[in-house]
Amino acid sequence: MEKKKFLEELRKIDINGKDATQLYNEISSLAMKYIQTSEKPNRCASYLSIEFLIGRVFYNNLLELGVLREVSEILKEKGVNIALFEEIEDAALGNGGLGRLAACYMDSGAAVGIPLYGYGIRYKYGLFRQKFEDGFQKEIPDDWQRFGDPWSIRKEEEKQIIRFADMEVHAVPYDMPIIGKRINVLRLYQAEGSEEAEKISGVLYPPDDTEEGKLLRIRQEYFLSAAAMGDIVREYEKRHGNDYKYFAEENSIQLNDTHPVFAIPELIRVLKEKGLSYLSALKIAKQVFNYTNHTILPEALEHWDVRLLKKILPEISEILLSINSSARWRHRKEGYTPQESAATSIYIHSRRAFSMANTAVFVANKINGVAEIHSEIIKRNLFAAEYAHHPEKFENVTNGVAQRRWLELANPELSALIDKQIGRNWREHFEELDKLNAYTANEETLLEFIQVKGKKKEQLFRYIEKTEGVKIDGERILYAQVKRLHEYKRQLMTAFALLRLYYDLKEGKLKDFTPSVFLFGAKSAPSYFRAKGIIKYINEIIKLINADPETNGRLTGVFVTEYNVSYAEKIVAAADVSLQVSTAGLEASGTGNMKFMMNGAVTLGTMDGANIEIVEKAGGENNYIFGARVEEIEELRKGGYDPNSYLKEHPEWKKIVETLTDGTFSDEKMGYFRELYDSLTIGASWHKPDHYFIFRDLEEYYQTILQSNYDYKNRKGFAQKQFKNVANSFHFSSDRSIKEYAERIWQL
Ligand SMILES: *Cc1c(COP(=O)(O)O)cnc(C)c1O
Repeated sequence: MEKKKFLEELRKIDINGKDATQLYNEISSLAMKYIQTSEKPNRCASYLSIEFLIGRVFYNNLLELGVLREVSEILKEKGVNIALFEEIEDAALGNGGLGRLAACYMDSGAAVGIPLYGYGIRYKYGLFRQKFEDGFQKEIPDDWQRFGDPWSIRKEEEKQIIRFADMEVHAVPYDMPIIGKRINVLRLYQAEGSEEAEKISGVLYPPDDTEEGKLLRIRQEYFLSAAAMGDIVREYEKRHGNDYKYFAEENSIQLNDTHPVFAIPELIRVLKEKGLSYLSALKIAKQVFNYTNHTILPEALEHWDVRLLKKILPEISEILLSINSSARWRHRKEGYTPQESAATSIYIHSRRAFSMANTAVFVANKINGVAEIHSEIIKRNLFAAEYAHHPEKFENVTNGVAQRRWLELANPELSALIDKQIGRNWREHFEELDKLNAYTANEETLLEFIQVKGKKKEQLFRYIEKTEGVKIDGERILYAQVKRLHEYKRQLMTAFALLRLYYDLKEGKLKDFTPSVFLFGAKSAPSYFRAKGIIKYINEIIKLINADPETNGRLTGVFVTEYNVSYAEKIVAAADVSLQVSTAGLEASGTGNMKFMMNGAVTLGTMDGANIEIVEKAGGENNYIFGARVEEIEELRKGGYDPNSYLKEHPEWKKIVETLTDGTFSDEKMGYFRELYDSLTIGASWHKPDHYFIFRDLEEYYQTILQSNYDYKNRKGFAQKQFKNVANSFHFSSDRSIKEYAERIWQL
């Protein structure tokens, strides 16, 4: 980028009479004029993902271009505070961790100079925006394009036609530059051509509880897959015409979870159309595709009805059946037992459906989990049969997050402190953070760290006062649980613990309690009844606590509205304690935990996902681990877990849990709380009672919270634990993850 020329032109911008949106568009467009994407080499990697949770790009792009400070200064001279653009809402083309991971990987690919090209969908409406009404979640459509989309370029001339049996759809690419050592491209496709066509890129995760909804999901997934494959094949043909023998050498395609798995039969379909035999096409597919698994929750593993596929994608359905036959043939040859064959089956007779995960597992060259424990679990359980025969296909790549967004941008104060000790190199070479270990016992450093934490908390509390209307004063220890709302993440367990704190404080049982804030942030899927009940319940508890003058200066709860990437940036920088309390074995990795760690929060959590690696790197003594380990949960699941006898033996918790039904709180007769209570004590919707083992871990959780609270009294001792977490977070940079993908999976 010609930095000087850009800044010169920026100086010339006339700000008079322009509002935030206009200025945002003008400055962004100006920057775009100076951004030249890097030449695409023959060999590169493609990353297919149904979500890209990019967040606000304005600051991040200016930062990556190396002009953020100058732009800020020039605007200041003109009387504009650069924070003005925080009014421009984030585009949320993703839901949570999976989409944010894709965004961090794009960032890191560019930063470390790997040719990595993203493919996704340009949803007209991203994830809904959240409001609370009387503590109930309400959803508002996220019309993000009303602010304009100056960071993308529509590539009309590269549009393609995607064919379904009943309709043709135009896939029009919008290219977003991803800036770093290289400038890569994230290509998002918009569906056009008719009203029906436009629905395909209408919303992220349309409800799939009806046949129409399921068809729309299939259309979305195929749309993305076919557009990406069409693009990759076309690029290839520019170099080699219709000689496909270099295709596998030049392409690696990463399937981020199963949503883009249709890319497999689609590539085979296209290559067949070009004249290759099915078997040659399958052979190529087996070399280029790799699959990342993100979950072992059975309800999240995709199966598509053959009947639905036949209706709109008959050829794809046929090819999936062929792949199924190839798999069966291969399995017989390699001596899979009947049980192993059944477990790896692509077409599942009993369901009359295709398993997208098994399709990916059979075809993929490499399959990876996203944290060490998760990779072990998929080898041991979910994909055990395939692992028994093809251990060489399995890899682990522990997730990471981009330190440029999650430390440099989110926490300039802590970044300055780090710069002072070890210089500025960590932005590109995060392993250098290790050098901070030399300062973790340094009195002066710790005092400065405490100051920074205090400042970030103060900033967050003022922001919360402004946006949520909750006033928080004085020195507080800040506990935060922010992530999608899901039963396995156990926000409900935190709710119980919070209520217990409140009752114990009132009864004078907690001496020397450090004034605390419990912060929640989460969206529930619109149709997820129980998750919505949990939101309402937490809001009820918070209302009770915050209204009580007796505990007021000591305990405050806040449930932030519209938790998103920008909010996350503020929260991770401020938190003292990161709550990561999923049922062991169920959080594949988590990435929120890494953002908190980088910013010096201790992890208070279970031995799950990347928490295990966090504790391994930063030391058990600097984090707070509690609860059942995976092995114990697996045993309990086999039988012998009785939540009701637990409640009988623990009247103090029984009292808490019964606030769901005893009238302490009201859900306005909506039935949410009764259903939650039943799910814990009787079991509901195919699950056993307390399916996520809250009562197994609750008392230990509570005691661990109290322990951390008491430890905080020694502020310097606690700061040392926190700072050790910063110093040892170097493993969790997505630069490290993406290099591992490049070396071990893509062979770039
Ligand atoms: C990082 C992030 C997540 C993922 O959080 P987990 O705690 O790993 O589930 C979800 N949403 C947003 C907005 C994030 O920034």
